[in-house]
Amino acid sequence: MTNSQSFLTAVFLHSLFPLSRLFPANAFLVLSFSFFFNISMGQTSSAPTSALRTCLSQAVGSSNVAFPGPFYQISDVKRYNLDIDSNPAAITYPSSNEQVASVITCARDHKAKVQARSGGHNYGNFALGGADGSNTVVVDLDNFKQFSIDDQSWIATIGAGTLLGDVTDKLQKHGRAMAHGTCPQVGIGGHATIGMCYGSGC
Ligand SMILES: Cc1cc2nc3c(=O)[nH]c(=O)nc-3n(C[C@H](O)[C@H](O)[C@H](O)COP(=O)(O)OP(=O)(O)OC[C@H]3O[C@@H](n4cnc5c(N)ncnc54)[C@H](O)[C@@H]3O)c2cc1C
Repeated sequence: MTNSQSFLTAVFLHSLFPLSRLFPANAFLVLSFSFFFNISMGQTSSAPTSALRTCLSQAVGSSNVAFPGPFYQISDVKRYNLDIDSNPAAITYPSSNEQVASVITCARDHKAKVQARSGGHNYGNFALGGADGSNTVVVDLDNFKQFSIDDQSWIATIGAGTLLGDVTDKLQKHGRAMAHGTCPQVGIGGHATIGMCYGSGC
């Protein structure tokens, strides 16, 4: 965790233990616990090179890429499994095929790995590079949610960032359905590539 996240954790814990207001010494215990908590979470900071930062910012626009810093874990990394310490070098939010290609080119040129993220719904944090994700550039597909279906062939074209709950809703409007499990937050990207032999999707 970053210093500001540590501070917020301390404030949060402080509010959980109102006794600390009566006994200021407890505030020290709360802060100590917060420090221990952060250490035990195993958060380490990864620092993408400035050249990689510049390349990614040019690829998708500086407002569509996030790097390690305050609130990075909470607002952009969003680990599904909090027991796995995933801290990727960058999270990018491209909105076109060309931008995806540019992100991949940046990663290749700067010897970083690339991982797609659709729903981010997996126990291994694989879309974040797993436990060793510090050299990983994530391609978040949240901007890829297009949907179309041919009412003759029933072939549907679905953006990889679409979540299964939305896929179901959109197919249902055309009287169609697909087999999948009970978690509407799973992304079609991960589900269609590696997730379909789990549960009722098999
Ligand atoms: C609690 C839970 C319940 C589940 N229940 C079911 C179920 O009922 N039925 C079922 O079939 N599955 C189920 N799964 C498994 C799920 O389908 C897989 O974990 C799936 O891979 C999640 O996809 P995602 O896009 O949400 O995850 P992500 O983390 O975004 O992606 C998972 C993996 O796929 C890769 N990936 C994502 N998008 C793409 C893409 N567009 N192109 C290439 N690679 C991509 C990522 O890089 C990552 O390695 C469940 C998983 C969990 C955690």
